[in-house]
Amino acid sequence: CKEFPVIIVVVGASGDLAHKKTLPALFSLYYHNMLPYCFAVVGYARSKLSTEAFRDVVVSNLVCRTVDRDHCEPKMNSFLERCFYFSGQYDSLQDWQTFDRWLSEDIEVRLRSSTYEGRCSQRASGRLFYLAIPPSVFADTLRGIRHGAMAREQLGAWTRVIVEKPFGRDTESYMALRDVVAECFPEEAIYRIDHYVGKPLVANLTTLRLGNFVFDALWNRHCIESVQVVFKEDFGAEGRAGYFDAYGIIRDILQNHLLQVMSIIAMDPPASPLAGDINEAKLRLLYDMKPLHAKDFIVGQYDRYRSERGVPKDSCTPTFAACVVQIDNERWRGVPFVMLAGKALDERKVYVKVAFRETSNQSFVPEELRNKRNTFYIEIQPRPAVELSFITKTPDLEGRVVQTKLDLVYNESFVVEAQDMPDAYERLISDSIVGDRTLFISDAQISRAWELFDPALKELERDPPTQPVIYPYGSKGPILPETLIKKYMAGKMGD
Ligand code: NAP
Repeated sequence: CKEFPVIIVVVGASGDLAHKKTLPALFSLYYHNMLPYCFAVVGYARSKLSTEAFRDVVVSNLVCRTVDRDHCEPKMNSFLERCFYFSGQYDSLQDWQTFDRWLSEDIEVRLRSSTYEGRCSQRASGRLFYLAIPPSVFADTLRGIRHGAMAREQLGAWTRVIVEKPFGRDTESYMALRDVVAECFPEEAIYRIDHYVGKPLVANLTTLRLGNFVFDALWNRHCIESVQVVFKEDFGAEGRAGYFDAYGIIRDILQNHLLQVMSIIAMDPPASPLAGDINEAKLRLLYDMKPLHAKDFIVGQYDRYRSERGVPKDSCTPTFAACVVQIDNERWRGVPFVMLAGKALDERKVYVKVAFRETSNQSFVPEELRNKRNTFYIEIQPRPAVELSFITKTPDLEGRVVQTKLDLVYNESFVVEAQDMPDAYERLISDSIVGDRTLFISDAQISRAWELFDPALKELERDPPTQPVIYPYGSKGPILPETLIKKYMAGKMGD
């Protein structure tokens, strides 16, 4: 049985995303034998480069996660032999058609040749287009692929397109993008990446929650007091301040990454682990969330932000935002879900913290620990881990009652060195090649995400815009998640 050939086309192959993430992820998949045997990687961009020059740039960004250089270097070389480059304009149908001919008459012929030991099927190749280009050229590129470079569907080959955020900057701009996508491809051909969803712990959240009675049984408002989803960076917008200023932290982090994590944490159990059921459960949850308004937010800006290159001196773009989301359904009514994200804070960490309600047996808890809660802490990065904190007695004769934790630290428990942990892009690209859509974001989810955030964004950005609270670079930011929860509980949001 011959293997089905696949061509992975990296559009924008001369750029930052392609070199830093996409191409190294492809190499890593190849290294771990996770790419189909019959594959070729083809870069497409306007820059005039030969295949040789392209390979030189590609190799400069490849790393071997293993220390076994003897094994790694030959793998790198054979990966590079499968990398090719084509220079074309994004808005030229003629270029896309020439590209198509080149793929059929050169690359596909190579795939069937002895280089691949005759193991590849004679059928036309599947084509996976990874769009690593700015949104301004999405429309031309999608039309170019649709009308010039589709795989031969009549011969049973598929075409898939991976796209990455930003998916617009509000409902209106997203709808314009969505119309172009829909004009060119059916929904099932589009793979929208939110790379947070591909991170090992986020990809594991559904199993952790639903595969364990202890969590499944307690996962509701009767047992859970509050939930935090927190993203902290210890550096500012340096280097990408121009891009960042047009978006701000709410669009950059909350509306997509944190909302996705929250929807997995809070969705009702899906009917099955299949992609369709999981995505339906996430969407239902997004519809149970109440749209956000400016009064639900605390926004901040680090003190040096306005001196960054590319940032206007009077910019009110938030580099910090925290809000309380309310979920109006039977499971969660009344439970505050905090989303908090900030740049230039005191540490780099992304985590979820689920705080359970206090025990009714308070006489067993010493006075000084009565404000403590059992918490289920999930660290997404930098040190993937889950921890359950609880009250216990020390084993010495004194028998003090203390709070301690049970933990599962990925690097220790699974004996995975940090460099062996697959990158989110590897998981997502691999899933898109096999057609598993579980970790990809549907059009309906993105539309709803904008509906949830649009009112707040409009109110915060109206003229004059809301002035962010200025906070020192490297500090904890204008508010802690715990303080925000207290404020919400006291009915003092918006004060
Ligand atoms: P980039 O380096 O600015 O652009 C990628 C390539 O697109 C460039 O090498 C250039 O190739 C072409 N290009 C750039 N500006 C263009 C323009 N105005 N008109 C036509 N072509 C242009 O961008 P990137 O950082 O790789 O990111 C690509 C996309 O992924 C963006 O939408 C970005 O927001 C998103 N993204 C990036 C990252 C990241 O880590 N970089 C992470 C998440 C999402 P040629 O001139 O050779 O055609």
